[in-house]
Amino acid sequence: MRLTPVARHVLILGGTTEARQLAAELAADASAGASADAGPRVTSSLAGRVAEPRLPAGEVRIGGFGGPAGLAAWLREHRVDALVDATHPFAAGISRNAVEAAAAAGVPLLALRRPGWAPRAGDDWHPVGSLAEAADVLPALGRRVFLTTGRQGLGCFAHLNGLFFLARSVDAPAPPLPADLEVLLDRGPFTLAGERAVLREHRIDVLVTKDSGGAATAPKLTAARELGLPVVVVRRPEPPAGVPTAPDVAGAVAWLARPHR
Ligand code: NAP
Repeated sequence: MRLTPVARHVLILGGTTEARQLAAELAADASAGASADAGPRVTSSLAGRVAEPRLPAGEVRIGGFGGPAGLAAWLREHRVDALVDATHPFAAGISRNAVEAAAAAGVPLLALRRPGWAPRAGDDWHPVGSLAEAADVLPALGRRVFLTTGRQGLGCFAHLNGLFFLARSVDAPAPPLPADLEVLLDRGPFTLAGERAVLREHRIDVLVTKDSGGAATAPKLTAARELGLPVVVVRRPEPPAGVPTAPDVAGAVAWLARPHR
């Protein structure tokens, strides 16, 4: 049985696979038209970091709100009934803003957070608290580094002379950057065969990743395990306290189907 969301206008803070999937599901319901169980109006919000983003179904707005007050004003002005923070687990700023804005505007808030990854037998993981800490441990682990942490924050590795970096990102990174750097412009999902090929072709001996979770970018972990490579895993920032959380799109749809006021 399909659950019909109670909210009439849902704002999804996006930039993730799950955010797009949720928008697609709700927009499909909305296109059921005038039928009694038609879904809500759905708007997705993107930060505007990626030059050519994959656009979600439904309405889309792009760019910052101007802090929590700006987001609260947007919620009120557009009569939003439910806010879903489906941003990346490392996008801590917008998630904090969402808590403050939802409280100010009196709008129910759900965090849609995919679970983090867990090490398996054969993994050689080195958890760290930040990109700067990742840079600190790298010289002891390898010489040829595959950086999969995105284009922001590459400056943390700029001082590491003597190490080769292969950095993968959707758009080209901006300086400061490591001196010995090759950029691989690509966006997930990635395949195991593809990840094996990248590691082999570039003779990578250490991988750096955020604990993003999800299936789309997990094959690199399997490929690293197969090759016995160390993996530096940047731990997630603490999520805001007191916010109900769903681990997947089905959980978010179920939450939206319940009355919250
Ligand atoms: P952040 O540091 O948490 O946010 C910085 C500012 O960017 C926010 O204060 C907000 O500006 C604006 N912003 C962020 N997400 C937004 C959204 N969905 N809609 C409208 N404005 C948004 O964010 P970030 O880490 O740079 O991530 C930016 C976007 O990229 C997020 O949407 C996230 O889902 C996606 N993403 C991030 C990562 C990552 O590793 N951080 C990875 C994959 C995708 P105002 O204060 O002006 O409202």
